[in-house]
Amino acid sequence: MTERMLQVEDAQSRVMAEITAGAIEDVSLLDAQDRVLREDVINDRDAPPADNSAMDGYAVRADDVANVPVSLRVIGDIPAGHPTSARLEPGTAMRIMTGAFVPDGADAVVQVEWTDGGLETVRIERGVRVGQNVRRRGEDMRAGDVVLRAGTRIGAAEIAMLANARKATVRVGRKPIVAILSTGDELMDIHDELAPGKIVNTNSYLLAALVRDAGATPRLFGIVRDTRDATIAALESALESDFVITSGGVSVGAFDFVKDALDAVGAETKFWQIAMKPGKPVVLSRARDRVVFGLPGNPVSCFVSFHLFVAPALRKAMGQESALFPPTVHARLTKPLKSAGDRRVYFRVRLTSIDGELAAVPLASQGSGSLTSMLGANGLAIVREGVKGVDAGEIVSVVVIGRI
Ligand code: AMP
Ligand code: MG
Repeated sequence: MTERMLQVEDAQSRVMAEITAGAIEDVSLLDAQDRVLREDVINDRDAPPADNSAMDGYAVRADDVANVPVSLRVIGDIPAGHPTSARLEPGTAMRIMTGAFVPDGADAVVQVEWTDGGLETVRIERGVRVGQNVRRRGEDMRAGDVVLRAGTRIGAAEIAMLANARKATVRVGRKPIVAILSTGDELMDIHDELAPGKIVNTNSYLLAALVRDAGATPRLFGIVRDTRDATIAALESALESDFVITSGGVSVGAFDFVKDALDAVGAETKFWQIAMKPGKPVVLSRARDRVVFGLPGNPVSCFVSFHLFVAPALRKAMGQESALFPPTVHARLTKPLKSAGDRRVYFRVRLTSIDGELAAVPLASQGSGSLTSMLGANGLAIVREGVKGVDAGEIVSVVVIGRI
């Protein structure tokens, strides 16, 4: 077992080194939203399929409207979706709608606002260049172009592209099943009567929600009592899942059995301490080809370490190839932050726009057991190791963990 305290970035790369892209499945187009694409998508035709009009107006030859005003005979109407085989002869115009294919012989479109809108003849007030108001065939995409790469996370724009490629079913990464077990003799579940000395198991639900947010499927294994045997038994069944997350029991307390139990099931522990606050004890372990994350019991430590280590791993397991880690932005701090300076600290903040600038508003309570400190938090402001604090008005780095 490695006993050295790791820097956050080193721990993140150690996590990523353990993860490979998992199984794939085919889902229907709308079910592909928020999943990770696992096939390259090749466009089978030019888009637009032909030169077409970007405006409602008149298809013309630019030469015929070089001197304006000029009147041209209108020889036809071209609605969108009804291409004409008629050819536009010199000195004539055809009324054309947005999206309709430009007829042979025409090389530009005069928008209707620059004409009198005539049906038999049209008076044109302003000239156009060759190609003006015409969208060229293939200017968006060419047949044979790879329009989406495997490894892309699928949002609304990707769904539109998949629809354009007429993909009724889409190959995506299967959602990993993530076993969640919460250790602690002090825990009672939400249906139980609370007894003296007991607290509610919030972490199972917190972690389930975080797992869902990351795009995976949580499987709750409930509360595990603080004995070595109970912890081993719980791990044994949890290891049937694709990933295992435990909460609590990873510190150096007399009843912290997670590391012991991992050893007992033959797991290889990669690290168990990270130079950060909250969340110093975080275990990364590999057992029977499964990755186990042992997160600390304090809800906030769980929350922070999940965002920094677990969510990126789940994304990679689903096949995502970029933007695995939450991005870091610069924001102006609205209240001072104090640190002991020994480890890097992640403060929960609300990132918001103040006077058009990104501001980081520290949440009132910063205790690692404080549920209120997570409410509304969409950022983790970093105070680096060796720094004792940051004053209000200074710029800080903030890890973005939610919508701004
Ligand atoms: P531990 O990491 O096991 O020492 O737990 C640290 C503290 O986190 C405990 O004293 C509890 O207050 C809290 N805690 C542990 N597990 C949970 C849980 N599942 N839900 C809410 N709080 C927890
Ligand atoms: Mg405990």
